[in-house]
Amino acid sequence: MQYVAYVCLLFIYSVSNAVNVDYELIQQAFLVRNNAQAPYSNFHVGSAIRSQQGNIHKGCNVERCSYTQSTHAEQNAIDNMIAQEGPAKILAIAVVAAPSTQKQEFLDFIDAEIIFGEPLGVAPCGHCRQIIWENSFNDPSVIIYLVNVNNKKIYVTTIGELLPCPFGPCDLGISYGE
Ligand SMILES: [Zn+2]
Repeated sequence: MQYVAYVCLLFIYSVSNAVNVDYELIQQAFLVRNNAQAPYSNFHVGSAIRSQQGNIHKGCNVERCSYTQSTHAEQNAIDNMIAQEGPAKILAIAVVAAPSTQKQEFLDFIDAEIIFGEPLGVAPCGHCRQIIWENSFNDPSVIIYLVNVNNKKIYVTTIGELLPCPFGPCDLGISYGE
């Protein structure tokens, strides 16, 4: 039993050391969440993308009275990336999501506990997971930071964990980045 615990600890340690937490990206997701237009759901979402070129692109959710014409924060951020860089690869994406009544500042999370491989924050919806996969360029290790404002923890997961067995561009014979 002790040996199993030791192996588990070693795994967590090695995974956590393999990833340098991108606090600048998380901070930008906090900031852009303040711009959310969500009078119908009152659920404010901010998202920031780190592109392979190293740039940060941001997006918030934008709701409209027709509902179906609303834009999700992750999609907004990715579309902003494409508008700036063309069809680029995502290195990492941060998501901060909570009801509008929960005003959150990044500084309150600078000492937040980082949890690897256990996605218990508000995760991207299925629609957005598919959109993230499109610009992951077939790389399941694209990092996703999920900020849980309720328990003040930041969960680090991957698109591969959130979208196993994906349908992607390669299924249509398309390959980005080659
Ligand atoms: Zn979504």
